[in-house]
Amino acid sequence: MIITSIETYKVAVPLTKPFKTALRTVETAEAVIVKITCDNGITGWGEAPPTHVITGDSLNSVEYAVQQIFKPYLLQKNLLNYEVVFQGIQTILVGNSSAKAAIDMALYDCIAQNCKLPLYHFLGGYRNELETDFTVSVNSPEEMGEDAVQYVKKGFTVLKVKVGKDEASLDFDRIKKIREQVGKDIKIRLDANQGWNPKESIRIIRKMEDAGLNIELVEQPVLAADIEGLKQVTDHVDTPIMADESIFTPKQAMQVLKTRSADLINIKLMKAGGIYQAQTINSLAETCGVECMVGSMIETRLGITAAAHFAASKKNITRFDFDAPLMLANDIVTGGISYEGKRITFPDAHGLGISGIKN
Ligand code: MG
Repeated sequence: MIITSIETYKVAVPLTKPFKTALRTVETAEAVIVKITCDNGITGWGEAPPTHVITGDSLNSVEYAVQQIFKPYLLQKNLLNYEVVFQGIQTILVGNSSAKAAIDMALYDCIAQNCKLPLYHFLGGYRNELETDFTVSVNSPEEMGEDAVQYVKKGFTVLKVKVGKDEASLDFDRIKKIREQVGKDIKIRLDANQGWNPKESIRIIRKMEDAGLNIELVEQPVLAADIEGLKQVTDHVDTPIMADESIFTPKQAMQVLKTRSADLINIKLMKAGGIYQAQTINSLAETCGVECMVGSMIETRLGITAAAHFAASKKNITRFDFDAPLMLANDIVTGGISYEGKRITFPDAHGLGISGIKN
């Protein structure tokens, strides 16, 4: 199975409501789409969004990496020796994790199609459906309370609430408001996106614990590079702490796992550089008894289809944050995963099951 062509397209899809976190506000989902074709007629699809503030990648840097670095390397390579190819992708270019992820998912799409299996079966097939949470953007406590009620009415039972944008005391009011509005049976997880410092994190998380707000976990309370601060928070609260922006690579995962600096890990293909590396992070975490969530950036149903195939394949991946496509005003993807409220199911088709992109 020889790679014969690699094409890229840029796409842009508006969101129905701005996605607001401590790090950024997104109104349009932009992405570079990658299409890889092999000599046996198999076509694989990939996607990478620009997430400057998290990965450092832009639309132009992704396109450059794919066209100028990966394309010359990959053309005429045989995908039956895919270990050679994935090792090469990691070594010929430093960083650029989003471009690597787009290439990686397109290659896995081709490989699984050649094996005549849906990708999640090819990777392990642990589950055949998933349930996603839904994100409440950071706004005033009143607006967040109203949004939370709307999402619960739509059938979501796990809310991922964005905090960390202003002073921490306002975050307490936000969560208190949401808990009052949605009742005690809805699971609430928080994501501070690096917005708090360690002491502030400990103070506010303990305050939420004392108030009985019943928070399932808190994602990335402190700065990505502050592993000591992350450990300080993990050591001083009862609520489980999840590392997100602190972990891109297996090496970084090992550092966090070795020092017990977090209780859980959020794996994203755009940080890990694709499924090949994401599997290593999950295996390291599983070895240490640490469960993983798989999340995403603001991506279309193409990127999320790849992430969902990976997430469904492994026992140790127990939480799923795949709401991004539900925030988009239109769907440019043909084939791939289907949503029925919070429930995600997979097509029987081989590979990712994507048959095209409308733009
Ligand atoms: Mg996060």
